[in-house]
Amino acid sequence: MNKDKFIKDCENELRERFEELDEISFYNQKKILRAFQNNNVELRHFYGSTGYGNSDVGRDTLNKVFAEIFGCESAVVSPLITCGTHALYLALSAVLRPGNKILSITGSPYDTLIDAINGNENGDIGSLKDFNISFSQIELTSDGHIDIEKMNKLIGESMPNMIYIQRSRGYSLRDALSVNEIKIAIDNVRKLNKDCYIFVDNCYCEFVEKTEPSAIGADLVAGSLCKNPGGGLVPTGGYVAGTKRAINLVERRLTAPSIGIEVGSYEPGYRLFYQGLFVSPDVVKNIIKGNYLVGKVMEKLGYTVFPNSNKKSYDIVKSIIFNTEDELIKFVQIIQKCSPVDSNAVPMPWNMPGYEDKVIMAAGTFVQGASIELSCDSPIRAPYIAYFQGGLTYDHLKIVAEELLDVYAKN
Ligand SMILES: *Cc1c(COP(=O)(O)O)cnc(C)c1O
Repeated sequence: MNKDKFIKDCENELRERFEELDEISFYNQKKILRAFQNNNVELRHFYGSTGYGNSDVGRDTLNKVFAEIFGCESAVVSPLITCGTHALYLALSAVLRPGNKILSITGSPYDTLIDAINGNENGDIGSLKDFNISFSQIELTSDGHIDIEKMNKLIGESMPNMIYIQRSRGYSLRDALSVNEIKIAIDNVRKLNKDCYIFVDNCYCEFVEKTEPSAIGADLVAGSLCKNPGGGLVPTGGYVAGTKRAINLVERRLTAPSIGIEVGSYEPGYRLFYQGLFVSPDVVKNIIKGNYLVGKVMEKLGYTVFPNSNKKSYDIVKSIIFNTEDELIKFVQIIQKCSPVDSNAVPMPWNMPGYEDKVIMAAGTFVQGASIELSCDSPIRAPYIAYFQGGLTYDHLKIVAEELLDVYAKN
């Protein structure tokens, strides 16, 4: 087989997808540049602060820039938010009160949120359930869409205080949801209930489309800076963005109800937070292109991938389905081998904190575990699905595609 020609053919077949992605990233880049300019981002905003961090203009300006980009009133962006799970739990625990009810309209939440919401066998762990906040869920329809009819019915019956939406696929066999589909759901919710909070787990989806859910009616969106909006440069952190009413409570939950976001220092400074955000649309674009290329190669080798190359991508993840645990583990190990860091490490399944099943993770990344960099993870359970995502450059993902071709097309 002529490898170069095989890859070139794949790229040619993906041209239409690539052109759509170029247009989206150009639009988002303009939006971000404008937000930097409108908020007068200056070199002095990159300096760090210490202690209480009173009047930390770098922090305050970053919050404003974020809010503008996310099309909403307010945002908290902070290295003190340790990861995506933390950002999501922060947002939930900030606005919900004892006796409140959450209704998920996208099935089960992401694995690490399950115990945080519903508790576990260890007794009181400070989960939402331990605060007498209840959770129920509506499954997506069999073809992976929000079941609006059922949602309308349940909102009428149970009067939830929060509608919970997860945009990306998590560890389930479905595609991510488009902002348009989320908008239709939000508009429906608002017809029935003006006041309930609408919450969106935005992980893996920032800048994949031209609009964020916070700009079309969600009260709260949250995510990780080790994913899309960190652009591969941000060393750590998370964000929550949304309405003034909601974010005011998030600020007070992050620190203390009496203080809010008046405090919070970070001595290393904020340059990478601004710089990572600025390059993020381009990094996201290249990831999705590379993702399509890898997916196309696997498709041609006979594997099933989600979303397949005829469909639009609404997150930066590609799911590749394998028949056995061994096949899955082998794929994840190949991805580790293609990494720039720790390429000689051999990932094995392990009991990672927060996850229900054993998981296997490849992440030979510059920022530890950052899944905007080339990475692949999967819970060890049937069906055996590799969740493949990230990659800082398109060429890196093209090398991965070549390597996969070498390994799988040997016969
Ligand atoms: C990654 C992810 C999370 C959790 O983020 P962590 O940074 O791993 O804690 C939550 N929800 C979704 C959909 C994710 O992709």
